[in-house]
Amino acid sequence: MHPKEGPSTRCVHYGRAVDPRTHAMNIPIYENAAFAYEDLGTWKEVALGRKAGDIYSRNSNPTVRAFNEKMAALEGAEAATDFSTGMAAINSTLFALLNPGQRAVTIKDAYGASYLHFKEILPRFGVLCEICETDDEESILAAIGRGCDLLYLESPTNPLLRVVDLEKLFAAAHRVGAVTVTDNTFATPINQHPLALESDLVIHSATKFIGGHNDLTAGVVCGKADLVKRIYRYRELTGPSLDPHRASLLLRSLKTLAIRVERQNTNALAVARFLQSQPNVLRVNYPGLETHTRHAVARKQMPGGYGGVLSFEVEGGLEAVAAILPRLRYAYLAANLGQVDTVVGPPSTTSHVECTEEERRAAGIPEGLIRYSAGIEDTEDLIDDLKSALSAH
Ligand SMILES: *Cc1c(COP(=O)(O)O)cnc(C)c1O
Repeated sequence: MHPKEGPSTRCVHYGRAVDPRTHAMNIPIYENAAFAYEDLGTWKEVALGRKAGDIYSRNSNPTVRAFNEKMAALEGAEAATDFSTGMAAINSTLFALLNPGQRAVTIKDAYGASYLHFKEILPRFGVLCEICETDDEESILAAIGRGCDLLYLESPTNPLLRVVDLEKLFAAAHRVGAVTVTDNTFATPINQHPLALESDLVIHSATKFIGGHNDLTAGVVCGKADLVKRIYRYRELTGPSLDPHRASLLLRSLKTLAIRVERQNTNALAVARFLQSQPNVLRVNYPGLETHTRHAVARKQMPGGYGGVLSFEVEGGLEAVAAILPRLRYAYLAANLGQVDTVVGPPSTTSHVECTEEERRAAGIPEGLIRYSAGIEDTEDLIDDLKSALSAH
């Protein structure tokens, strides 16, 4: 995707939703379960999809449709469909597209609940799942080579900010006829465009950067119209749709997505560089640092910036983490990310809460790790805050 407009102009003007009936500049919140018709003929035409309109809000709703259209425009997609959470979007995509006996390939560092779909849920339905080491490109390519119906990737990952070469792996998957899917939650449509990197579908937990104000949960899938139609069909039958009130909040959030993400990119990079200079910080994980093992890949596939999330390891393990985090004045200790507020937490209470200490160690996650999601606060305040919290330690 090479849009001629800049990211903020796209966020404000793409997928504009003036209400066709009232000309209200923002589409109203259509709080309706059902839509009434004056005659059976029109009702039936709409129900059969031959005429534009809505029947019942589990299936479609004008406010929610405006959100889908704006998301499709921002991802450069043919179509998009909404969900009540990010996990509903991921579950529906996998169940709509995979059949028993088919093969799915993914990476160990996929978001926890997504990883458990491949490990626990899909195998129960006869889907053969290969979960590869995220940093071992050769093993991912080999798994694809053994046969692949769906390749599911995430980059950067949670909480170690690992980066995979999306275009290279998706091209290999397309050569064997697979459908390719990206969870683009960490990168956002501002920083990375997987649809231009051979991804057929892009998923977001809109709870994170897209919503951005810690006031809702939501999900969305964008991509090729025929695939989105199959996912919509599954969602229509199973029911995890988005409600119009949250769709309206999301439409409001999307207008400031670019300015929020640009500030979060700047803050995260500055914080990462600052942490690198701290004696009691053992390691900093951020794709924007030249020291990141896949910095060159990140630079190529994240033209908008490296995202608002980083992680770092402090000396002294969990005890040190427990002492440092409450000293931060400008950060919430919470299991969320991508918000206007800075949010911090260790993997043992966020991304890897269900794992034992041994399992976390096996996954390469040290007990002294802190995930830091930069908000839109002033950069110097965040750095001063970290400086005093770390030096008291
Ligand atoms: C939060 C998150 C999800 C799940 O989204 P929910 O809205 O919490 O269901 C999926 N993928 C990533 C990368 C996430 O950060």
